[in-house]
This record gives sequence, C-alpha cells and structure tokens, in this order.
Amino acid sequence: MIVVSNIQELKKQIGDWKKEGFSIGFCPTMGSLHLGHMDLVEASKKETNKTIVSIFVNPTQFNDPKDFAQYPVKTDDDLRLCEEKGVDLVFLPDVKTMYPETKTPISLSIPELQKHLCGRTRPGHFEGVLQIVSKLFHLTEPNKTFFGLKDYQQFRVISAMVENLNFPLEVIGVPTRREEDGLAMSSRNVRLSRKDRETASLIPRMFALAKKTILGGEREIRLWKEILRDFLLTGSSLRIDYLEVVDPIDLQPKESLEGEVLLAIAVFVGDVRLIDNQIISIPN
Ligand code: AMP
Repeated sequence: MIVVSNIQELKKQIGDWKKEGFSIGFCPTMGSLHLGHMDLVEASKKETNKTIVSIFVNPTQFNDPKDFAQYPVKTDDDLRLCEEKGVDLVFLPDVKTMYPETKTPISLSIPELQKHLCGRTRPGHFEGVLQIVSKLFHLTEPNKTFFGLKDYQQFRVISAMVENLNFPLEVIGVPTRREEDGLAMSSRNVRLSRKDRETASLIPRMFALAKKTILGGEREIRLWKEILRDFLLTGSSLRIDYLEVVDPIDLQPKESLEGEVLLAIAVFVGDVRLIDNQIISIPN
C-alpha cells in the first residue's frame, strides 16, 4: 500500500495508473476508520481497479472549534485497516497542503439542498465539505467516488455539485453499516461514555418505532414527529438538534406522508453529535 502526504507524489502515481488504463475509486474520509468506511472501500474495490482513501480532518467543515479539536485521530490503526482491506493508496495530507495560506478562499454551496437538516444547524459545514471534496476530486481524478448514506444530505449535496459542475465521475451511495443494536457506526461513537452509548441506542429504536407507527396507520406528520420526539426525550438526557421529514431528492420538508420520505435526525448525547437518516416508504 502506498502512503503519500504531498500532492506531487499523489499526482505522479495517479498519472502512472491512468497511463496504464486503470480506473480509480476514491473514498474520502476523516479517519478513525471503522467497518462503515471499509464498506466504501469494498464497494470501490469491486467497481474500480485502484482504490484511494484520503484521511484528512477538514477544519473548514467544523462550525464548532471544540468539535474539531476533539475529533478522534488514530492514524496508525487507520493505515493498518486500509492495508488489511487492500487499499492501494492512502492520501494523508496536512492542513498546509490542503489550504496553503497564500491562496484566497473559495466558497461553494448548493443553497436549495442546504436549507434544512445539517445545512441549517451547522452553518458553513457544507461549504467546507464542498471545498475540500472538490479539491480532492481534482487531485485524485477518480472515475467513481463512494459516500455513505448515513450522511445522506452530504451524499445529495456532493452528487448535485458533481452534476452541476460536470465533474467527470460517478458518485455512489453506500448503505449505512450499523452496530448490533442498530446504532450507525461513526468515528464519534468512541467518545461516548458507557451510559451515553446506552442512550444513543434510542436512535435506532426510534427508527423502529417510526416504521411501526407508519404500519399502524399514522399519516399525520406533526403527530408522527411528536411521538418520535417524546420517545427520544422521555427520561433521557439526549438533546435533539433536529428531527425532520423531508423529500429524499430535493430535501425540502414533506407536507404529507406519502411515497418515500427521508426521516433525518441529529442529536447530542453528552457533547457528542450523532446523525442518522433512513428512507421510509409509506404504504398507500
Ligand atoms: P467521515 O470519516 O465520518 O467523514 O466519513 C467518511 C465517509 O464514510 C463518508 O462518506 C461517510 O458517509 C461514510 N461513513 C461514515 N460512517 C458510515 C457508516 N456507518 N456506514 C457507511 N458509511 C459510513
């Protein structure tokens, strides 16, 4: 496995692979890798000849400096996992490499898709994501790139950028890998105390309740959300950042429960922010 930190070496290797006719799959990450990340790698290995993983905790996408400072880093373990899974190249740049001070900042956004969910509660987050991901796309020149559907809004925003700006690549969404109790795997889970980890299991249980009440005939969005909020909040220390029901394509709030809806949630358990998303089909 090749590990590179500078852009020249990265571009040289990619140029060599392109000359040999290899297709490139790219999985951007912020490290502290787990099996959810490895699902992206597996999908990439199935669909392309060479798989690149980037590991970069991107400062511009953190609206809370404390969250950035506390983001877990475990590069040695990450490299071991990537090697085991057969990743071809890990790109491990530092902040100066990705954001040279001499350059003037740029801001990209897809306002329509960022009005709600994390776009609303984390101002500047998607501008940071789009900035780093577009840079990484230019540097890695992938044919296909792989994003987790856990971060569903991110997947939609990146897909829209690729479409809007004619990036010559395909964005592929990968299903969410979950723990045994259904909690979505996340690099942030390691920061949960034992008690908070128990509280976090309310999230998958809430999704189960959401589906059950739909099957039971609930069709009133306001009531549905109230039932789910009550379930999460009664007797627990969890705080809801948002709990919304939106259209899975344009991410605008749904007015009625029909077709497919995205139930999207962000909560704080202690000071750890967790998100999850599921598309739910509403029976006629
Ligand atoms: P992160 O390192 O959290 O920025 O995530 C990097 C990529 O891995 C993103 O595309 C995430 O959506 C994806 N990812 C994170 N957690 C999971 C998971 N549990 N299952 C599948 N993909 C995930």
